[in-house]
Amino acid sequence: MTREFFNYIDGKWIPAASGETLASHNPATGELIGAVPASDARDVARAVTAAANAFEKWRKTPAPRRAEIIHAVADLVRARKQTLGELLTREMGKVLPEALGDVQEAVDMGMYMAGEGRRLNGLLVPSELPNKWAMAVRDPLGVVGLITPWNFPIAVPSWKIFPALLTGNTIVWKPAEDTPVLAVEFVKIFEEAGLPPGVLNLVTGYGVPAGAALVEHPQVKMISFTGSNEIGKQIAVRGAQLGKRVSLELGGKNAIIVLDDADLDLALDGIIWSAFGTSGQRCTATSRVIVTPEIHSELAERVADRASKLRLGNGLLPTTDVGPLINRDAVDKVHQYTELGVSEGAALLVGGARGVEGDLAQGHFYKPTVFDRVTPTMRLAQEEIFGPSLAILRAHDIDEAIRLNNGVNFGLSASIYTSNVNKAFEAMRDLTTGIVYINAGTIGSEVQLPFGGTRGTGNGHREGGGPPVLDAFTEWKSIYVDYSGKLQRAQIDTDALVQ
Ligand code: NAP
Repeated sequence: MTREFFNYIDGKWIPAASGETLASHNPATGELIGAVPASDARDVARAVTAAANAFEKWRKTPAPRRAEIIHAVADLVRARKQTLGELLTREMGKVLPEALGDVQEAVDMGMYMAGEGRRLNGLLVPSELPNKWAMAVRDPLGVVGLITPWNFPIAVPSWKIFPALLTGNTIVWKPAEDTPVLAVEFVKIFEEAGLPPGVLNLVTGYGVPAGAALVEHPQVKMISFTGSNEIGKQIAVRGAQLGKRVSLELGGKNAIIVLDDADLDLALDGIIWSAFGTSGQRCTATSRVIVTPEIHSELAERVADRASKLRLGNGLLPTTDVGPLINRDAVDKVHQYTELGVSEGAALLVGGARGVEGDLAQGHFYKPTVFDRVTPTMRLAQEEIFGPSLAILRAHDIDEAIRLNNGVNFGLSASIYTSNVNKAFEAMRDLTTGIVYINAGTIGSEVQLPFGGTRGTGNGHREGGGPPVLDAFTEWKSIYVDYSGKLQRAQIDTDALVQ
């Protein structure tokens, strides 16, 4: 029998107004994980009303108290790490160690934000006038709408939910249609930790109508969206028309630069992990390697050899290196890029085919794929593929390598392998991505630093951690307190004082 899950609205678990459901399947095996509400605008409206009603009380709850609940959530997530990780592998496909890492990220973010509850710094500055106090505090925005992708079904929501709650906002969350059961299990933990009804509401369903209704709703003050550039841009345009704040975390076309003086073994490990971990379905995944001439052939050969030995399979099995892609469309998309790469004249070294042998036929598998002799203008070198497909490009020197890295319409993560400290610092100065790694691959951010990218990867906000995440979910309010008991005129009475 199908296990049924529900929306969480105003502290109650309820079906969609329409009664419709959508099914979630294991991408490795086709197993049915469960059915969730296929919500529409009516469910979203109900959730927004609940969040709006809960806002006044929640914003006045002291931040340290809000933080205690967040801390309790993080503790519960840690206690259930194994169960959540296994469910994550079943619903999303990534191999278990990575799934556990996804869950751990939520623990880390929860702990980080819980600590922020007793800080949540504002500004306190001297006034230009005597007997006057000048300070600025952070105000919550109100009801915020969170729309999240499937590739980090716990980590990415935690980057948004914890800071939004900590800063006093109330939430309506629309998770991806491919990972809704995990969203339900995550929200259950907030309920168990004692979060008051209405503060966090979950509405599952399709991008349209559920996500779109959230964007449209007049009481939603801000949309925090992580997902594809295509949908992100649409939301940015609509958000601007409606006068909403929109925070976008979008795609990547991340590169690892390998210079002649690099430790090749180390670079190789970084490339394989960053390109094929999560089957290449990370916004920070490496999809380009930019290599200098002396080591080009050796590196290409060794990358292809390592990629060919990666074992595809169910992510729950310890013998699996690379799990499935999220669904059939994703496999088709990656394969279209393989065909495109061949037609553009790139050299296919390995992979380039669906994984269909034995048990793989039940799931959505694609073989780790490596192209060499990719040139910068090829679509293979420019567009996000979001799968296990890697393009190797050649650059004459560090300057050209950095130019190639910066010459795409994404700016999330970049890495350089070199043993020359001067070149490492040049790269740190000149790479124009939001994240830069030296002698490490393009993946592996930590919650205490900002996460996000330049160019098409975002619109200037930073989520995922570090103090700037608080800016995404708050409004600054400057407060002046004049205790002089007389009229004091800023900018006018100031000169009189110095005489
Ligand atoms: P997506 O197709 O854009 O979907 C993201 C979310 O938006 C899903 O919940 C989706 O619902 C919803 N949605 C779809 N159409 C919508 C609409 N018209 N209005 C409102 N919401 C709508 O992206 P994805 O395939 O899930 O995720 C992969 C992308 O996310 C990649 O490009 C990846 O690079 C990016 N990503 C970026 C970061 C980052 O921090 N920069 C992190 C992770 C992933 P459905 O699920 O029902 O379609």
